Amino acid sequence: MEFATKAIHAGQEPDPTTGAIMTPIYQTSTYAQSGMGEHKGYEYARTGNPTRTALEACLASLENGRYGLAFASGLAAESAVLSLLSAGDHIVSCDDLYGGTYRIFDRIMSRYNIETSYVTANRVEAYEQAIRPNTKIIWLETPTNPLLSLVDIRAVAEVAHRHNVLLVVDNTFSSPYFQRPLDLGADIVLHSTTKYINGHSDVIGGALIMNDQSVYEAIKFHQNAAGAVPGPFDVWLTLRGIKTLAVRMRQHEENARAVANFLTEHKRVEKVYYPGLASHPDHALARRQMSGFGGMVSFQFKGSLSDVDTVVRRLRVFTFAESLGGIESLVCHPASMTHGSIPREIREARGLNDTLLRLSVGIEDISDILRDLEQALA
Ligand SMILES: *Cc1c(COP(=O)(O)O)cnc(C)c1O
Repeated sequence: MEFATKAIHAGQEPDPTTGAIMTPIYQTSTYAQSGMGEHKGYEYARTGNPTRTALEACLASLENGRYGLAFASGLAAESAVLSLLSAGDHIVSCDDLYGGTYRIFDRIMSRYNIETSYVTANRVEAYEQAIRPNTKIIWLETPTNPLLSLVDIRAVAEVAHRHNVLLVVDNTFSSPYFQRPLDLGADIVLHSTTKYINGHSDVIGGALIMNDQSVYEAIKFHQNAAGAVPGPFDVWLTLRGIKTLAVRMRQHEENARAVANFLTEHKRVEKVYYPGLASHPDHALARRQMSGFGGMVSFQFKGSLSDVDTVVRRLRVFTFAESLGGIESLVCHPASMTHGSIPREIREARGLNDTLLRLSVGIEDISDILRDLEQALA
C-alpha cells in the first residue's frame, strides 16, 4: 500500500470483537488470564496494550521498518536507545540538534562516563574522524534543528557500518512522509510523535522504528523494564492524528515554501534557512534524500533582540510557543527557548544567535499567514 493508505489502515483493522472501525482505547492496566501461562497475548499494560500495538504497527509501516515501539515522550524514546550503551562508551553526534538531546548527552550520559563528540552536521568525513574504538552510536538529525542543515544519511550509514557503529536518525522534522531513513541505511529511526506525527499539539509522545530483531528486543526489554510507556488515550489521539499525516504534510510544505520565498524578499530579513530554496547549501542533497522539504523555516531578523521581541509580540496567526509540527503556526526563539539549555558560546559558535526565529508553518490559509508576517515585520 502507498503511504496515505498505510497512514489510515496499517495496524488498524476493525476491532475483532465488535467490528468498531476505529481502534478502541483499551483503558485497562491488566488483562484476565484463563489459567497459568494462558492469555490472549496481553498480561499487564506496561508490557503491552492493544491500542499501543496498533500505533506501533502503523509507525513501523510508515517508516518501512519491521518493528515499532511507542514511548511516553520523544526523550523517553531517546533514553531507551541510550540504554543500549554501557559506561565508557562514546557517541558521535551532529552539532546542530534539539536542545533536549544535547542536555541528555551532556547532563545525564556524561555521568555514566559516556562522552559525546559533536561534528559539523553536513561534513560526512567529520563523523568518521570522530569515531573512536569505544564509539557505539552515531546520532543524527536531518534537517537539523533549528538551522535546517542536511546530513547525507546514506553516506553516514556507510561510515557507521564500516566501524560497526549503530546509526540513529531523529526524523522528527521531516516525518516519514518526506524522508525514510531506514531505506537509506539507518539502524534506528526516532520520532518525537508530539510534533508532525500527532500533528495537533495535544499529546507528548515518542517512537522508535528499526529492522534488526536483536536491537528491537533489547529496546523492547528496556521499554518494559524502565517503563516509559504512553497511556492508551494519548496513543489513540496519535493514531487519529496520523490518519491525515499525508495531507497535512503536503499543505505544511506548500505554505512553508511560500513563507520562505516571502522572507527571502523581505528587507528586514538577513538570512532564510529552508532546504527547499535553491540557494540553500544542501538543496541538492535535500532533493536526493527527501521527497519534499517540510514545514519548518528559520530566519535571521535584521535588528536588535528587542526588535525580535516586538515581532513575536505582534504576530497574531503565529503563536509564540515552543514545539512544532501542529496544524497551527508557531514561532519560537531558539536561543531562549528550545535551545536555551545549550551554553551561549557553544550556541553562537554553531551559528544560532539571538536574532534567529524558527517558524513552524501551519496549515491555515496562506494569505493570512503572509499578511501576519508582513504586519509584524513592518
Ligand atoms: C521535540 C523534539 C524531541 C523531544 O521530544 P519530546 O516529545 O518533547 O520529548 C526530540 N527531537 C526533536 C527533533 C524534537 O523536535
